Amino acid sequence: MSWPQQGGAAGEGKPDQYGLVGHPVSHSWSPFIHGMFAQSTAQNLSYRLFDIAPQDFRRDILQLFTGGVRGLNVTLPHKQAAADLVNELTPRATRAQAVNTIAFFEDTTLLGDNTDGVGLTVDLERNMKVALADKRVLMLGAGGAARGVLGPLLERELREVVIANRTSHKARSLAAEFADLGTISGCGFSEIGGPSYDLIINATSASLHGAMPSLPDGLVGEQTVCYDMAYGRAQTPFTAWATAQHAARACKGWGMLVEQAAESFLLWRGIRPNTRPVLDALAPHL
Ligand code: NDP
Repeated sequence: MSWPQQGGAAGEGKPDQYGLVGHPVSHSWSPFIHGMFAQSTAQNLSYRLFDIAPQDFRRDILQLFTGGVRGLNVTLPHKQAAADLVNELTPRATRAQAVNTIAFFEDTTLLGDNTDGVGLTVDLERNMKVALADKRVLMLGAGGAARGVLGPLLERELREVVIANRTSHKARSLAAEFADLGTISGCGFSEIGGPSYDLIINATSASLHGAMPSLPDGLVGEQTVCYDMAYGRAQTPFTAWATAQHAARACKGWGMLVEQAAESFLLWRGIRPNTRPVLDALAPHL
């Protein structure tokens, strides 16, 4: 396997093609983010959105790569299907069994990676200055995003992780998959026990539908940081709930979005762009 061919610096011929596949994808800010990265690192590339329904995923993805696309980001609901599709997985994608980044190599290898975990931990630790060691973490949701972040979070030597999901057996089986990395358990929303958590991460897609899981009282204390992976201009149902519960902080997933994108860009282009200008550019829009 050799590195993906690169079209080189901006202005040198046809741009290399990248994009995001998901269903839906129209709300995505990834073209803006990768456009800024390309400009700041002088890379000649284009980045487009591809709305692909689950039943068409395999056929359409293979068509995109045979048609010249060099790399794709993958978002809901395709992250686990993408892990099954690629020929090779990076160690962190193997651990997650979920892929959010695919790189196409010259020898036709499709490499699947997962940059969600590093995106979240960089945002929490570097951007938000949240220390993770010895913290109790509640993760809502057991889909592709939760899978991607559990490994990197557990590497921080957390005291405990509780995964709670609408379909409780998925939370329990996801916890069992990661039990070798730390103290972790799974349950349904109504079964979540106290005392209050240090960090509550919403990794459900409920916010995208304007919904908020129904949770027991007593989960949020004065020091609790609440983090919604979903992002948008207004409050999400989860950040509104966190604010009403007097959480210390209630944040949306913009920083994670930008940091995971920077890691994808690194895999594709061999350069990790500076994320600060993108975070600053997004700030007035949030
Ligand atoms: P998946 O489709 O893989 O998983 C969805 C999860 O949400 C499942 O656990 C599902 O539960 C749960 N869920 C869906 N609807 C509801 C609801 N109404 N009430 C309660 N739970 C619900 O999605 P992903 O894991 O890929 O994405 C999850 C979220 O994270 C999305 O909002 C996505 O935009 C965001 N995200 C943000 C990133 C960022 O960079 N900021 C990166 C990755 C994801 P069940 O198992 O019962 O169906």
